[in-house]
Amino acid sequence: MHAARSIAQPFALFSALLCATLLAATPALAQTAKPNVVIVATGGTIAGAGASSANSATYQAAKVPVDQLIASVPELANIANVRGEQAFQIASESFTNEKLVQLGRRIAQLVKDPAVDGVVVTHGTDTLEETSYFLNLVIHTDKPIVVVGSMRPGTAMSADGALNLYDAAVVAGSKEARSKGVLVVMNDEIHSGRDVTKRINIKTNAFFSQWGPLGLVVEGKTYWFRLPVKTHTAQSEFDIERITALADAQIVYASGNMNPAMYDTAATTGAKAIIHAGTGNGSVADYVVEKLKTLRARGIHIIRSARVPDGLVLRNSEQPDDKYDWIVAHDLNPQKARILAAVALTKTSDSRELQRIFWQY
Ligand code: ASP
Repeated sequence: MHAARSIAQPFALFSALLCATLLAATPALAQTAKPNVVIVATGGTIAGAGASSANSATYQAAKVPVDQLIASVPELANIANVRGEQAFQIASESFTNEKLVQLGRRIAQLVKDPAVDGVVVTHGTDTLEETSYFLNLVIHTDKPIVVVGSMRPGTAMSADGALNLYDAAVVAGSKEARSKGVLVVMNDEIHSGRDVTKRINIKTNAFFSQWGPLGLVVEGKTYWFRLPVKTHTAQSEFDIERITALADAQIVYASGNMNPAMYDTAATTGAKAIIHAGTGNGSVADYVVEKLKTLRARGIHIIRSARVPDGLVLRNSEQPDDKYDWIVAHDLNPQKARILAAVALTKTSDSRELQRIFWQY
């Protein structure tokens, strides 16, 4: 009896101490359980500021620094351990190939860090679809990389940036977002960075994927409905760590009564590929065909895309691509085709290989 009490007493004391320690540790445990998300800011409207709250469309992009952006959404602290980095402070129409490479290299470093669970890139909406596709092609990781922007500056009534940023951090920190390629979060929707395009200016539902969004993000939770099938990120044959410069690829926009000399400008200024933003199914006007054949004979790749927002360009329909040794852009719009050409040409200039890459990515 006496002996039993002498064992029970230290045991009770030990249990009490253990409970107290666990209780004290609970908030710390909860905190470390939150994902670590880095917000890499590049500018755009999400960092924009207007003269008054009624200025939803007239404002200056790329004004608000990343720390201020993060501080303006205190709810971020509830869902992730967030820190910011200012990569650039520019409107996205001013992105260049050099900036893409610089951004890609920094993100590749970040995702290699075991202490980073996901990355959010804040970006202007104008070329957001180009950067997201580029990152999707060249970053070798399974960790979520989420590109986000806004259509209204934070100073406007009903600004959309705060919720978009919060949603992007939710997705970047979520385990379910892993291995799905680079994602774009806008207006409650989760899109594949490959498919998404800006379809409407002014309105907040500006982004659209012709094959549908991958999911939704609502009140801090993700809901998934489909997966991308094209090769991306960890499986990609392109690696930003082995790319120092992208190839020059230029877009020439087709219309009635066009001047074939437009293609010469692209060629003489060094383009290795010309993306023909053709009418209909990537059609080429009869008075332009000879020009494109001549440029191909000079070693410049001709890639037939379409100015029609949706659909896909069929090989050997409209033009005999096999005979002319041209490439079709598949379902990529001209600006996405430019990105893939700029990346693919760092690896090969064989037209069959390039066509294989356009089917695969
Ligand atoms: N021109 C701006 C940009 O792309 C537009 C925006 O962010 O919505 O940076």
